[in-house]
Amino acid sequence: MMLGFVVGSLFMFSSCTQDTLNPQKIAYGSLIQVASDGTTTVSTNNLLAAFTATPSLSDAEVAMLLKMKEEEKLARDVYITLYEKWPKPIFSNISGAEERHLQAVITLLKFYNQADTLIAARGVFSTPALTQLYQTLVAKGDSSLANAYQVGLQIEEMNIKDLTEALATDPNANIVTTFENLLKASRNHLRAFYLQLSALGIVYVPQFITQDEYDTTVISPMEQGRQYALQNHNRYNYQYQHGNNGH
Ligand code: ZN
Ligand code: ZN
Repeated sequence: MMLGFVVGSLFMFSSCTQDTLNPQKIAYGSLIQVASDGTTTVSTNNLLAAFTATPSLSDAEVAMLLKMKEEEKLARDVYITLYEKWPKPIFSNISGAEERHLQAVITLLKFYNQADTLIAARGVFSTPALTQLYQTLVAKGDSSLANAYQVGLQIEEMNIKDLTEALATDPNANIVTTFENLLKASRNHLRAFYLQLSALGIVYVPQFITQDEYDTTVISPMEQGRQYALQNHNRYNYQYQHGNNGH
């Protein structure tokens, strides 16, 4: 009887530790890396490790993620194309960062078992309006280097507006974590393109955010990432998604 009690206790202990975090194993880290020119990439490994268990996505959250997937791809595709015309490091550096942003949104989609995680060819988008916007931005950026930097500012302020509006709808914690870091990256990219355009003596007029928000953003320093607990809840969440919590 005594032995049975001990064995039973051990079994309970080991089964409960499956999902119990060992505090000594929790690491902390930033989800973004900021280069000296403001190029801000996202670590999808750290992002995934910072995710927590949440309910499944609402239809509005799915639509929000698919929209941002397209926007990050638009940024990446435009900067890759502009770099072919104007081989300035800022276009290759930031297009590389946009690829990481795109992967961050895809990491979220995969985390929630969404089907639409593929990336179409450069310049190909899910709606005619986005394809048209891509062509308009590329044509504008092709006309002069100053216009190419203005296209960068236009894309980044559009990202800032859309990420801010998405966050205002109070999406789940993992979307908030991802979008807050993408927003920080977009503000850093806005500052990076502002510095390039200012060096040419040209003043940009914002179209998507207010003049006040633009002015205060571009004159403030590059933002670094904050520290997140990298607890790697993802296995628990996948169990949650599959309705197989086991407890
Ligand atoms: Zn981005
Ligand atoms: Zn950007």
